Amino acid sequence: TSTPVTVTVTGAAGQIGYALLFRIASGQLLGPDVPVRLRLLEIPQAVKAAEGTAMELEDCAFPLLAGIDITDDLKTAFDGANVALLVGARPRTKGMERGDLLEANGGIFKPQGEAINAHAAEDVRVLVVGNPANTNALIARSHAPDVPADRFTAMTRLDHNRALAQLSKKAGVPVSAIKKMTIWGNHSATQYPDIFHAEINGRGAAEVVDDQAWLENDFIPTVAKRGAAIIEARGASSAASAAGAAIDHVHTWVNGTAEGDWTSMAVVSDGSYGVPEGLVSSFPVTCSGGRWEIVQGLEIDDFSRGRIDASVAELAEERDAVRGLGLI
Ligand code: NDP
Repeated sequence: TSTPVTVTVTGAAGQIGYALLFRIASGQLLGPDVPVRLRLLEIPQAVKAAEGTAMELEDCAFPLLAGIDITDDLKTAFDGANVALLVGARPRTKGMERGDLLEANGGIFKPQGEAINAHAAEDVRVLVVGNPANTNALIARSHAPDVPADRFTAMTRLDHNRALAQLSKKAGVPVSAIKKMTIWGNHSATQYPDIFHAEINGRGAAEVVDDQAWLENDFIPTVAKRGAAIIEARGASSAASAAGAAIDHVHTWVNGTAEGDWTSMAVVSDGSYGVPEGLVSSFPVTCSGGRWEIVQGLEIDDFSRGRIDASVAELAEERDAVRGLGLI
C-alpha cells in the first residue's frame, strides 16, 4: 500500500464533522486504495468531544485509517497536511452584525492560513466549508502567500447537488441524466444556480423544462434557501448533505470530472466572466490531474448576467469589509 495521505479536519467535533469523518476514513474522499491519516483540530473545549468521535472511528476498524491525531494546536493540525477541510467557523448568532461575523471568522481563518503556509505539505489542497465560506477562503488564502492560489477553494457543491436534485424532480429524470449544472457566485442566498448550460440526456435543460416562472419563482429560491428549509424541518442545520458535498468536492478535484460534464467550485477568480480577479467565487470547472480549470466561453444572457453580477457584488462587499477590518 501507499503512504497515507494526511487529511486535516477543523471543527471535527461539530455536526458536519461527525458526518464527514467516517466517510473519509472509509475511503470515500480519496478512493478505495488510499490510506488516510486524520488530524482533527478543535477548540480546547471541544477536544474531548472530538476524542469521543475518534473512539468511534477506531471502533469501525476501517482498513484504510492509518491513524488519528486530535489537537487544539494549529501547527500540529496542519503539519504535512495534504488535504485540509476547514469546517469549523463562528456561526452568526442573534444580534450579530455582518461585520462582527466577518471579524470573528477572520480570527479563525487568518491564523489557519498562516499555519497552512508554514506547515502543510507542498501539494496541500484546501476546502473551506465554514461560513461565510467564500470570504473565509479569501482570508486564509491571503495569509498563505507561498501556497499557490489555486489550492484554496470554497464549497458550493452542496448548492450544485441541490440544484441537480430539484431539476431531476421537475424533469422526471434521474440525477445521472443531468450534466453541466452551474452554481455562480457566493455560497449565500444570492448564489445563482444556472440551468441554461445544463443538459438533460444531452438536450438543453432550459428547453426541456421550458418554464421560466418555475425557474425564477421556484427553482432558484428553493436551491438558495434550502439550508433554511432544512433547519425549519429538522430543527438543526444540514449536516450529512454538507459532508457529502465536501466529499464530492475533494473527490472530484483529485480524481477529475467525467468527460462531457463539469462541477461547481468556488475558486480564486482570474477575471473570467467579469468576476474581479482574486474574489473566491463559484464557477463551472472541470478537473483533471488534480487541478481545476474554469470552463471558458459560455454565453451568458441578460437574465444570468444580472444574477451573477448581484452575487459577485456581495462577494466584493465582503472582501471590502474584511479589507477594512485589516483581515486581508
Ligand atoms: P456544523 O458542523 O453544523 O457547521 C460547521 C460550519 O459549516 C458552519 O460554519 C456552517 O455554517 C457551515 N456550513 C456550510 N455549509 C453548510 C450547510 N449546508 N449546512 C450546515 N452548515 C454548513 O457546526 P457545529 O456548530 O456543529 O460545529 C462546529 C464545530 O467547529 C464545533 O465543534 C466548534 O467547536 C468548532 N470550531 C472549531 C474551530 C477550530 O478548529 N479552530 C473554530 C471554530 C469552531 P452556518 O453556521 O452558516 O450554517
